[in-house]
Amino acid sequence: MTNRRQFISKLTAPFLAMPVLSELAFPSCASPYEGPVLKVALMGLGGYATRVAEAMQASKKARITGLISGTPEKLKSWQQKYNVSTKNCYNYENFDAIKNNPEIDAVYILTPNALHHPQALRVAAAGKHVICEKPMALNARQGKEMVEACKKAGKQLLVGYRMHFEANTVDIIQQRINGNFGKILFFQGLSGFRIGNPSQWRLNKELAGGGAMMDIGIYSVNGARYMVGEDPIWVTAQETKTNPTLFKEGVDETIQFQMGFPGGAVASCLSTYNMNNLDRFFLNGEKGFAELYPASGYGPIKGRTHQGELNHPHVAHQTTQMEEMAAILLENKKPLVPVDGLEGWKDLVIIDAIYKAAASGQKEPIRY
Ligand code: NAD
Repeated sequence: MTNRRQFISKLTAPFLAMPVLSELAFPSCASPYEGPVLKVALMGLGGYATRVAEAMQASKKARITGLISGTPEKLKSWQQKYNVSTKNCYNYENFDAIKNNPEIDAVYILTPNALHHPQALRVAAAGKHVICEKPMALNARQGKEMVEACKKAGKQLLVGYRMHFEANTVDIIQQRINGNFGKILFFQGLSGFRIGNPSQWRLNKELAGGGAMMDIGIYSVNGARYMVGEDPIWVTAQETKTNPTLFKEGVDETIQFQMGFPGGAVASCLSTYNMNNLDRFFLNGEKGFAELYPASGYGPIKGRTHQGELNHPHVAHQTTQMEEMAAILLENKKPLVPVDGLEGWKDLVIIDAIYKAAASGQKEPIRY
């Protein structure tokens, strides 16, 4: 067993060695692409998988070559729609056999949160790269096990943080790195929507691992980190529940949380399943400010700074994400903001601390 310090140093060494790139490649239709293609199997053919699959049609570096689902009819219709051969279609019982399938390089896990951990371990054991939706797992312990399993298998683990590749977001991050906002003092993150159908897995503690925080609050957690450019070291949190019938024990409705960063910046964030129109990031520094509103929806994302509006054109986030993830996995490209397992694990460390702070009412340290 590695201890926490060994684990961190193993993880951060390659991270620290990464060069910071100032540009991202975006898909272009200009000339036929003849480079390497990432062969991806989609696992869990639900709402978000549908969006990813559509967006991947415009991707040149990543292609759907496999499908994993528990519903035979769904496999059949998706197979026809995306031209996937029968030998590359699996269910949840037999997908370990991808091990012997050279037409699959990576599995994109798009199932409910609680399944990410066991499924990622199986994909890694089958010797394939893992792309996993957020939240990467239910807690930091599971996240760490996923990182270690992929490392042991010699495979990469990426988390579906599509905003890390969004052009307006990347522009603001680059401006912050360049010093355009001066010393960073404050971040505000508002992440929420009013949830509907009470029988969905998002409101089931066993499958979701929590409530709004695991699903939507994570955007403010992750956003705080890439906007401020540091990882928070303490948190305080307050939970409010107005509807205990809809939001049962262990399923959070609304949590406000505050974080402190090593450089002295502070953050104030809101995560909720009970209010609409909450998708806004605001960053304030000694020399200027940046706003993203909306900040993490499917777009178009709108950004502005103290110097005016940002006008990067909208590209389906999942198209850019899959282009960039293919470049990471096939060409060893280093993104401006990482999307690796360490990144997903850090968010889970913070979320664990937020839940702890909401329960204790105390200021809780965040230890990575
Ligand atoms: P969904 O309910 O629409 O789809 C989930 C799929 O998993 C369904 O096809 C379902 O049949 C399948 N599944 C397999 N085993 C299951 C089980 N035991 N119980 C329930 N369903 C099971 O959900 P979704 O909105 O597509 O979310 C899937 C994942 O994607 C979640 O982790 C979510 O957080 C993430 N997500 C990410 C984004 C993003 O923007 N990055 C957006 C939406 C969802």
